[in-house]
Amino acid sequence: MTTFPKSNDALGIVNRGNAVESGLCSLCQSDCAGKCEVWTSCLKGRELLYPRNFGSTTAGAGNISPQGVGYHSLRIMGYCHGARQAPPSAAKGDALFTEVNLETSFGAKVKTVCRAPFMAGALGSTFIAAKYWDALAAGCAICGVPIVIGENVVGVDRQSIIKDGRVTQSPEMERRLNSYLKYFDGQGVAIVQLNVEDARNGVAQYLAERYRDKVMIELKWGQGAKNIGGEIQVNNLEYADFLKNRGYLVDPDCAKEEVREAFKSKAITGFARHSRLGYTNLDSWQEVREDFLKHVQSLRDLGFERISLKTGAYGMEALALAIRLASEAKLDLLTIDGAGGGTGMSPWDMMEHWGVPPVLLHAKAWEYASILACSGKKVVDLSFAGGFARSSSIFKGLALGAPFAKLICMGRALMIPGFLGSNIEGVLKPANKAKVNGNWDSLPKTVSERGTTAEEIFSGWHDVQKKIGPEAMKEVPFGAVAMWGMVDKLSAGLQQLMAGARKFTLSAIDRDDIAACNRETERETGLRFITDIGDETAKAILKQEF
Ligand code: SF4
Repeated sequence: MTTFPKSNDALGIVNRGNAVESGLCSLCQSDCAGKCEVWTSCLKGRELLYPRNFGSTTAGAGNISPQGVGYHSLRIMGYCHGARQAPPSAAKGDALFTEVNLETSFGAKVKTVCRAPFMAGALGSTFIAAKYWDALAAGCAICGVPIVIGENVVGVDRQSIIKDGRVTQSPEMERRLNSYLKYFDGQGVAIVQLNVEDARNGVAQYLAERYRDKVMIELKWGQGAKNIGGEIQVNNLEYADFLKNRGYLVDPDCAKEEVREAFKSKAITGFARHSRLGYTNLDSWQEVREDFLKHVQSLRDLGFERISLKTGAYGMEALALAIRLASEAKLDLLTIDGAGGGTGMSPWDMMEHWGVPPVLLHAKAWEYASILACSGKKVVDLSFAGGFARSSSIFKGLALGAPFAKLICMGRALMIPGFLGSNIEGVLKPANKAKVNGNWDSLPKTVSERGTTAEEIFSGWHDVQKKIGPEAMKEVPFGAVAMWGMVDKLSAGLQQLMAGARKFTLSAIDRDDIAACNRETERETGLRFITDIGDETAKAILKQEF
């Protein structure tokens, strides 16, 4: 089993718990006082790209040859001359890494433009997503990247009114959308996910009447953590009854007298609310195809121009089907999620043992997309998800999926700025503490050593202020400012890696910009082994007379 380091002395970071491949802890806590790489980047921004204590230290990387197959066993290549899709300064030998353009766009008919190739994956009806939503949505909108409102938001909203299978009012959906649209400036998009229950509750019709041109709809087949639909945990009998009446599976069944007694005597302390399983009534892929195309058409009939699909870590048949159907239906985006991460209500054993791991899934996605492209078909734009949290893994994902991959989708990592910023806001603005779900009464040393005011603590404060203006700054969630810092660090890091590969736009990135570090990775990903890339040219250089 591959283990990942818990600390990095050069960067001055340390994980609170066990580190996984993304660099996050396997259990990320919203009250965390630090300080992993993502947490620290929310405060320091691009400063975190460099070893600390410059001037009095030297630093050296481990440079190990990784074992096994994963994103860790891919290595980024660099070139010492030339430039692709370079700015005019390159012709004069004056190009700078900051001139690398990170803007991306995706979509079949309507192009959605994003300031950087990142998106926040589906944050749905889980309570942690709801608690920190305002900060996360504002942060994504200000950074110009998409965010996905996950499944079941309407169904679990106590205030929503559903009559005869049609939702007529959902304050929570309104809040989710408006907190993004308030800061939306034309880049990014709010994406709303629909699962089986959402479809039955008429969420699509509800959105069509109010937000048709403003949102993209996402159909959902699954995620990397699980393929049994969304779940939440409920510790309240009355709410469990409410959800059961809404048509959800509540487990154990709160309608049973013995279960109610067990809850009252504290023998059981909560209930799990589950969604229905998709497509259990369809056996063949042709039946799925027919049903899927019909569903997409029904959304188009409601007036939605932009539609996406999210699939999980299923096997190869489902992967091929997702790529084929998303392309055939001319969808705008297909997100392929391979990692067992989520907002806390997936069965742990399933998270650890279910599904195809990200690098294998994404390598096959590229192969299948290439098969369609070679037969002359227009392939749907792809977004890869699965434990991405660093500029290097983002670069690797985009290169592995080039030219089809347009975005990298992050879930847990992009939530950390929401937690951290809200905790700081709760201390510096005590009146907001309950509203933003701040967990702290005072600043921990990891924060106070940077300063005691927001202007001192957040590297991104002045940039955000310049963008939204001093008036809006008075009420912007601090979590959004923290996200600016994190996105700043990811963006600058990605620009540096692209500059090293001499690629000045995202569309110039190709598969030769990454290499397999061991032969197993070469075989499984179809990427070339690291010293095979350029080997022939190297030998020709040496054989040329001088
Ligand atoms: S923010 Fe989350 S991932 Fe980072 S150290 Fe704290 S608990 Fe771990």
